[in-house]
Amino acid sequence: RTVLRKITEIIIKNPEISPSETLCNTDPSVYHKRYLKMIRRLGEGHFGEVTLCKYDPANDGTGECVAVKALKQENGLVRDGWMKEIEILKSLYHANIVKYKGCCSELGGQVVQLIMEYLPLGSLKDYLPKRKQGMAQYLMFAKQICQGMDYLHSKRYIHRDLAARNVLVENDSLVKIGDFGLTKYIPEGDIYYRVREDSLSPVYWYAIECLKESKFSFSSDIWSFGITLYEIFTHCDWHQSPPSKFDKMMGDQRSVMELIKLLENKVRLPCPKDCPHEVKILMEQCWAADPAQRPSFSFLIEKFEAIRQ
Ligand code: ADP
Ligand code: MG
Repeated sequence: RTVLRKITEIIIKNPEISPSETLCNTDPSVYHKRYLKMIRRLGEGHFGEVTLCKYDPANDGTGECVAVKALKQENGLVRDGWMKEIEILKSLYHANIVKYKGCCSELGGQVVQLIMEYLPLGSLKDYLPKRKQGMAQYLMFAKQICQGMDYLHSKRYIHRDLAARNVLVENDSLVKIGDFGLTKYIPEGDIYYRVREDSLSPVYWYAIECLKESKFSFSSDIWSFGITLYEIFTHCDWHQSPPSKFDKMMGDQRSVMELIKLLENKVRLPCPKDCPHEVKILMEQCWAADPAQRPSFSFLIEKFEAIRQ
């Protein structure tokens, strides 16, 4: 206790060594902009831009690599979901969900950047076309995505943007879900969330009821998982991507109305070449017109375990 009293006395006598800077530096989730050194751009989506940085407060090259997500600033406005995205990621702890590390704020002001762990192999969309490793790996990735999603659903969140571009690769045997920008909480007792769609919506990943009635639910994430599964088994080949396949099927008249018509006529993406029959059946179950008929992530986890044997 005498030591503490001495320290307090010293701080009172020497205000310049005191408290804010010292306190901030001890909170590991506070990142200071001046120590973040940009290395390269990692990618971007509709809302964010992600950069690889080295955080090096000692300034001797020993710092750690982190992924820094900033919102693309449109007309200087900050999207209202940005703080929610950060809060949601902060509350999630799972082996198959990208880890939150902290935030970086403008001097005294709003949080401007989200700091997360860096996954060196990028998204599945970057990884799969270059490093095809075959069915066993695809089934393992599919199961890991289901495990991350099962956890997310257990916390009553729906993702709403599950797609290969939003699944990140740590190494040849580990993937994690990233990008919680469209994630919503479903209160106990409710079964869906209604969102008015804007023109940037990932419509080719959306279930039929999302397109028709803007109704998002645990079951609509399952539909998007089916599309993600299709992407995995086509190695994220650009020529076979969901947008290009559906566009071909629609011909000249491309619109959400036409897409709804196709889906109502029971048209679905084709079975990828070399895709095991059991996986094709699962994909089709994920794309059942009636949301209640679709499987759950826990059911899918068991199925992927069984196929693997
Ligand atoms: P948006 O909300 O704009 O879609 P994302 O969070 O999906 O932004 O990030 C965009 C892209 O940046 C991803 O598709 C991926 O290629 C890359 N990326 C995002 N987070 C990481 C990370 N932690 N490590 C490595 N690459 C990442
Ligand atoms: Mg994204």
